[in-house]
Amino acid sequence: MNNENTFSNQVVDNLGKSSWIRAMFEKGEQLKKIYGNENVFDFTLGNPDPEPSKEVLDTMRTLIDEPNIHKYMANAGYPDVRQKIAEHTQKESGVSLSAKDVIMVNGAAGGLNVVLKSILNPGEEVIVIAPFFSEYKFYTENHGGTIVPVKAKPGSFALDVDNIKNAINKKTKAIILNSPNNPTGAVYDEESLLKLSKVLKNADHTIFVLSDEPYVKIVYDNVKIPSVIKIFDNSIVVNSFSKSLALPGERIGYVIVNPKIDRSDVLVAAIVFANRTLGFVNAPSMLQKVIANHLNDVTGLNEYKEKRDALYNILIESGFECEKPKGAFYLFPKSPIPDDGLFAAEALKYNLVLVGGTGFGYPGYLRLAYCVSMDTIRNSRKSFNELMKNYK
Ligand code: PLP
Repeated sequence: MNNENTFSNQVVDNLGKSSWIRAMFEKGEQLKKIYGNENVFDFTLGNPDPEPSKEVLDTMRTLIDEPNIHKYMANAGYPDVRQKIAEHTQKESGVSLSAKDVIMVNGAAGGLNVVLKSILNPGEEVIVIAPFFSEYKFYTENHGGTIVPVKAKPGSFALDVDNIKNAINKKTKAIILNSPNNPTGAVYDEESLLKLSKVLKNADHTIFVLSDEPYVKIVYDNVKIPSVIKIFDNSIVVNSFSKSLALPGERIGYVIVNPKIDRSDVLVAAIVFANRTLGFVNAPSMLQKVIANHLNDVTGLNEYKEKRDALYNILIESGFECEKPKGAFYLFPKSPIPDDGLFAAEALKYNLVLVGGTGFGYPGYLRLAYCVSMDTIRNSRKSFNELMKNYK
């Protein structure tokens, strides 16, 4: 019997391509069973180590008994919450916004999917900057599109606007920007964003900028993140509280459609429709109200900075080449050998669990998520030093 079409061929085909991080994480879990949790140094997952703040937990406790809070509401979300997000973003960006420009969604992942569903026609292309969050490929393909990876500048991982310009053609529908970046921690500077804005203005059709901003509040060394919604007229912001409030399991985020987009009301209606008909229906009701009280908060920022410095120092001391990232909670050092998968396999022998850059569309590098305990970082030092002795 031919089983070829029993399930979705596209999804079954993607199963084998989507497991880079999970596969390493599971290897780490096996090692933990043999050697004990404290002797395995797992840097695979971007799952924030801190618990949500006491303030956020207190807000949850207060809201849980509120009448009607667990009911359906408008598919776009509570109007008062959307208004607060509009005011908050207006204050930060200087762009005039109101509640009608904001849609509450199920985390950044849900947000990216409803936006891509609303803008893509079959065969259209979405430019992503490599290295990139690998789920972008699957989100884009969910809605009939194809990703076109464009390499960031080697070393700094800054935007290479000339490369982006060369990748644009009549099928290009959008470009996804993610700054601070997963996996590099890079922050895109204003100059390169302005240069890109000029390129997009000169294109012969509308190209949307999808700004995926879950790390926008996780920045160090007084670096200022340029406002994408201010720089690009055809911009759509996707944000979540998974990282900034350490609430990844609660699936809460929002989308902002720049009102300067031509017929932005139709795009907003399309996103709300996609939110409903992809089965999200609405963003988690209580969490909408929770985050509205904590729009300025960041959980664990000082600790992340200490962890960045500690792990960065260990990597440099042991002989890695690595850019010091300005945001997010990832380091992206160069693999001492070109085959990052082989190097990650070698690292496992020292109980170091890392993910190869190949999974992010940038071979020859490694990603380390440092949203782990300080003990994990400190205790990994000996293993990194021992491992790297083999490559000197
Ligand atoms: N975008 C990037 C760049 C991410 O790193 C992640 C999660 O790791 C997401 C989106 C998804 O975030 P959320 O949990 O809010 O869906």
